[in-house]
Amino acid sequence: MTYRSVDGGSRSLWHARFGTVREVEFAVVGAGWVGLSTAYWLAKAGRDVLVVEADTVAARASGRNAGFLITGSAEPFPRLAKDLGEARALAFWKRTAENRELVRSELLDNGRIDCDFLPEGSWIAALDDDDKVVELRAGAEWLQTAGFPVEWVEGEALRKVSGSPRLGGALYQGRDGGLDPVRLCRGLAALPQSEGGFEILTGARVTAISRGQGPGGDGVRLQTLAGEVAAHRAVVTVNAAIPSLIPQLAAEVRPVRGQMLACGPYVTRDLRGVWYIDDGFQYLRQLADGTLVLGGCRNVAPEEEVGTLERPTATIQEALENFLEDAFPHLASRPVQHRWAGIMAFTPNGLPSIGAIPHLPAALYAAGFNGHGMSLGFVAGRYLAERLLTGSGGEGFL
Ligand SMILES: Cc1cc2nc3c(=O)[nH]c(=O)nc-3n(C[C@H](O)[C@H](O)[C@H](O)COP(=O)(O)OP(=O)(O)OC[C@H]3O[C@@H](n4cnc5c(N)ncnc54)[C@H](O)[C@@H]3O)c2cc1C
Repeated sequence: MTYRSVDGGSRSLWHARFGTVREVEFAVVGAGWVGLSTAYWLAKAGRDVLVVEADTVAARASGRNAGFLITGSAEPFPRLAKDLGEARALAFWKRTAENRELVRSELLDNGRIDCDFLPEGSWIAALDDDDKVVELRAGAEWLQTAGFPVEWVEGEALRKVSGSPRLGGALYQGRDGGLDPVRLCRGLAALPQSEGGFEILTGARVTAISRGQGPGGDGVRLQTLAGEVAAHRAVVTVNAAIPSLIPQLAAEVRPVRGQMLACGPYVTRDLRGVWYIDDGFQYLRQLADGTLVLGGCRNVAPEEEVGTLERPTATIQEALENFLEDAFPHLASRPVQHRWAGIMAFTPNGLPSIGAIPHLPAALYAAGFNGHGMSLGFVAGRYLAERLLTGSGGEGFL
């Protein structure tokens, strides 16, 4: 017997017969930080935008991360420069600094969005291993020479400020900070139209994207469970889910799991700023109410921490608790209140993959922010909006 289903069985006959077609100038697929940011910049330019989201605002990585808004990446700069070349590695740092300043000036410092932003700086720290400290310190000097306001803090001073007996040296950047990513995204989604607000269709998973049906096949057609959308231009920002819509990107963008936990309560708030430790394999911060948020340890079981299953595992959760005992003993032994997982999207060169969708000249995609999407997403959204508005290929994002 042959079974015939439409869209892999995700739509019933009634869905398929639901004939409305919503026409918009710009459609954004995915209401994560990157999609919402793109919609914001388009709406701010006075354009008609519709965001189409499978679940709800910030349901995936953008609502499951650590909320670090930082400059640069967690690995030592010499390694990044070796992998990407110096010019590109510096461009990466510049983009993240630009992103932070843009988020702060547009949304945070003027009070437009209250998302518990704590501008207490970021720390990229090495454990007390001589080679790693030397490499990280060399990176700090390199960045200082290039004009970045980076401070280097040596072991003893660092151990005092962090309370950790295990840290050997760190790079400090004072304008960075931490925030609540769900409140940030919801705040962006709730802006009034006069301030860059836009419409979002939630519960509307896109099941297929095709060329528009106008004369010459202009535009983009989106099939969703809530009906069809016909857009003049579109951008797909579904992060790790991108291969399900654009199979050609399966080798370029792969899903990698990140796990976190939160514990407390604490009587005092001892840890200020946001902390990346040991090439960023662990990261932690204490929120305004003292709650400690800790993530990482995916290097303990790298083969298992792949795929799209958003589920915490005993191996990684145990490793996180052990890390806390070892590196921050004064913060350990508090009850764990939450455990969760989120899916990041990684690319072979560690940079976001942004471009035109094959065979769909009116559509772009952006995915693969490699665990740094909060620190790049707002400026990436502005870049995508500019490309959509001008219709040009544009300069590369990075
Ligand atoms: C544990 C963890 C910690 C992290 N910590 C940080 C951090 O501190 N700082 C930082 O900069 N980055 C961090 N990241 C990375 C950051 O969260 C991501 O890079 C960023 O959120 C990606 O945003 P996005 O909008 O591209 O994707 P997402 O937030 O994943 O959004 C994609 C959206 O598309 C929707 N979608 C998917 N398929 C469809 C479809 N077919 N139709 C319609 N909608 C669809 C999803 O429901 C989702 O809402 C972390 C990630 C994790 C998992």
